[in-house]
Amino acid sequence: MTTVWKIEFGRLAGVVAAALLSAMLTGFWALSFLAGLTLYIIWHLRQMRRLERWLSSGGSLSTAPDAGGVWEQLVNQVHRLNQRNRRRKKRLSDIVNRFHRSTEAMPDAAVVLRDGGVIEWSNRAARDLLGVRNPQDHGQRIGNLLREPSFRDYLTRGDFDEPLDITSPVDPELELNLRIVGYGDGQYLLMARDISSLRRIEAIRRDFVANVSHELRTPLTVVTGYLESFDGEELPEHVREGVGAIDRQSRRMLSIVEDLLTLSKLEMEPVEPAAAEMVRVDELLVGLVRDAEAFSGEQVHRIELDATPEFGLRGIASELSSAFGNLITNAVRHTPAGTRIRVSWHVDGERGRVAVRDEGQGIGPKHLPRLTERFYRVDTSRSRARGGTGLGLSVVKHALTRNGGELDIDSTPGRGSTFSCVFPAERLVTLGQAAPVLADRSADPDGARHSANP
Ligand code: ADP
Repeated sequence: MTTVWKIEFGRLAGVVAAALLSAMLTGFWALSFLAGLTLYIIWHLRQMRRLERWLSSGGSLSTAPDAGGVWEQLVNQVHRLNQRNRRRKKRLSDIVNRFHRSTEAMPDAAVVLRDGGVIEWSNRAARDLLGVRNPQDHGQRIGNLLREPSFRDYLTRGDFDEPLDITSPVDPELELNLRIVGYGDGQYLLMARDISSLRRIEAIRRDFVANVSHELRTPLTVVTGYLESFDGEELPEHVREGVGAIDRQSRRMLSIVEDLLTLSKLEMEPVEPAAAEMVRVDELLVGLVRDAEAFSGEQVHRIELDATPEFGLRGIASELSSAFGNLITNAVRHTPAGTRIRVSWHVDGERGRVAVRDEGQGIGPKHLPRLTERFYRVDTSRSRARGGTGLGLSVVKHALTRNGGELDIDSTPGRGSTFSCVFPAERLVTLGQAAPVLADRSADPDGARHSANP
């Protein structure tokens, strides 16, 4: 038994002893015990009241009731609990303050949203970048403050895997990259980053490449033009080889410049939905296959075409032609002579697919994610030797993106590759029944070499 309980039982024993003595002296046993116990209970009730008053006055140690025994123990324990709670509260408020200070100092905007896009909290940068004021706009819907249609669509779709770029509602000069992440139960954190300087640097880079390519094209065209007028047979022996090399290299440079210009155009020109036309993919592919046959020349690739005439595509014909043409040219360029290349256009389920399948040596999986990067080649010297610029697949990717499509690459080393251009249902145009276009090399052996440019 602890000391406090010994004291408490001592007190009770004292009361009982006093009642016993009183009973023996007066002869009123019941009354004596009743009086003793009543006094004992009254004393405890008084202590209880003191404790209750002390707790409601804040429970500081200096004003603690001094009753000894079990009451003193209770007072001490309550005081310790109080202190522990205070320390915990302080620690939590320190954490909250630190979080507040760091989010306030953040250059990126942060807005906490409840389900339905209601603003719960925002930092200072949210005011500067998004115009969300703290705390005046809390409780408002974010869609009422950020009215850009692309943002509203983004919110309505509710698919926040990809970030969204918008113009700041506060300053039209500011370009923002916006991301929304879900956390907890129906809560979202919206973050916005100022990417204006990044965009400016990108624009400078694009302009530089476009200007340099443009400036180089004219002198190169003149050089290749003059070189064309030379008849190799008439040239003296000692210069013939040199002139041949100059001719090859200047043509290569011209192809690179042409591809860079095509890329710049695809990157810089705004996508004009009104410019989209109905493209007869089957007819387009017939022309491209002819060009590829001419390009294959003596290598005699067997190029087969299977294109449905039932569907067309809504898009920009020159860009789609550039994308499909580059894939077919690549199949010729990167596969051995005489191998089969199958070009097809089909609609499977909801999506349309232009596929170019070859039986070449294929591409290792580690190269696949990088193939559409500019100048990325699996085998640089072989690509150069076959007239590749390393820009073809970049052109394909850009041209497809502008026309609502995606590039899908499937390749098995040693067995061949399939490059597919996949288009969503909204890009498809139903044309009705007609005989499918099935062509092979024997159909028409004539045709011009297909260049990487439209
Ligand atoms: P290039 O002008 O060299 O063809 P691309 O950007 O068109 O440049 O292609 C990048 C690289 O991808 C090529 O250098 C080649 O290594 C690889 N590649 C493209 N198409 C094929 C293909 N059908 N088969 C094998 N490799 C390919």
